[in-house]
Amino acid sequence: MRQAEFVIVGAGPAGLRAAKALLEVGAKVLIIDRSDLLGGQLTKQTHMFFGSEKQHASKRGIDILGLMIDAIKGHENLEVLTNTTVVGLYKDLVLSCVEQDHYFKIQAQTIIIAAGASEKALPFENNDLPGVYAAGAVQTLMNVYGVKPGDKVLMVGSGNIGLIVSYQLMQAGVQVVKLVEASSQIGGYLVHASKIKRLGVDITMNTSVKRAIGNDHVEAVEIWQLDEAWQGIPGTEEVLEVDTICMAVGLAPLTELLQQIGAKVKYIRELGGNVAKLNERYETTVPNVYACGDVAGIEEASSAMMAGEIAGMEAAIKSGYRYDNQEARLKTLREDLVNLRKGPHGAKVRAGLDKLGVEV
Ligand SMILES: Cc1cc2nc3c(=O)[nH]c(=O)nc-3n(C[C@H](O)[C@H](O)[C@H](O)COP(=O)(O)OP(=O)(O)OC[C@H]3O[C@@H](n4cnc5c(N)ncnc54)[C@H](O)[C@@H]3O)c2cc1C
Repeated sequence: MRQAEFVIVGAGPAGLRAAKALLEVGAKVLIIDRSDLLGGQLTKQTHMFFGSEKQHASKRGIDILGLMIDAIKGHENLEVLTNTTVVGLYKDLVLSCVEQDHYFKIQAQTIIIAAGASEKALPFENNDLPGVYAAGAVQTLMNVYGVKPGDKVLMVGSGNIGLIVSYQLMQAGVQVVKLVEASSQIGGYLVHASKIKRLGVDITMNTSVKRAIGNDHVEAVEIWQLDEAWQGIPGTEEVLEVDTICMAVGLAPLTELLQQIGAKVKYIRELGGNVAKLNERYETTVPNVYACGDVAGIEEASSAMMAGEIAGMEAAIKSGYRYDNQEARLKTLREDLVNLRKGPHGAKVRAGLDKLGVEV
């Protein structure tokens, strides 16, 4: 069986930053990603990032990705497997992987899971019609492949993803007919909401999708108002003529591999779903298996980068590697993370981490 010193599953900002930290001290790193592109969510983020200055805020996501790849590209101790999905993770730190029709196993000494998250969907009649998308798929179509998903869109969800993707749709010449939000408050930053409102998008609160209408593709959507328990109120239905319904209703950490290996997980609503219990070194309850980034709780790219760096450093240190001023560097990273999570927009994550009972 193939042997590897450090295996990183997922080449998003968390995984790439963990790889950089490991390579710095001479560790041998194998990064595996199921996509053909490195970068995770950053591959489709054409907008200027919010977040922390130190983690490149105000640059476009794809440009941040370029910097991260340049920092590790061509390193003699780095091997990258793309188009390869890790489908199994076993207690003896064996990973089973599939690359097209080729199946193989890897024996790792240390594993860092940075697999990110999957998009949540809404249950409604006809939600399997062509034309019903999750927001990440819409972004991938437009920003990676240059394909317009439709001409008239209903956006569902007013978090930052719904707001930003609405703006990007408009930039691509797509009409955003309306944005509906089940809660009574806008979920994302008001600066993003104001921008799309100024461009004429009607944001309607306490409202959701009742059903999609169409035979072999979306031709219209029926929406309705919700009561306080988020139940549809009969008699409030409205039909909108759209060919696309875009759901931006949240992300769920991809913890399946961690659950397979027996790492303890806990359901924390504020962190997006099941998340692994980590110690302060980002190690799971299974020794030598680490987790960082959205897989450890839905946050943002800035925090994923910092967590990736901490996890990579801690994994290296546990294996006997040393950094210059490592205590001071780790302390600064941890303080930067705490600062990033301060303020009203970090409240949800803080509450989630509090419930998880760890200070990471
Ligand atoms: C529309 C949108 C706008 C955003 N805007 C901002 C912003 O302005 N500022 C900000 O800081 N953050 C922003 N974010 C959030 C940010 O993109 C994510 O928090 C960040 O990408 C998470 O990084 P990650 O490395 O944990 O996961 P990801 O970026 O999701 O990467 C995970 C990687 O793991 C791979 N993978 C998963 N499972 C497997 C497997 N079994 N085998 C092999 N590979 C696997 C995936 O292919 C992927 O490449 C935005 C997100 C979206 C969707």
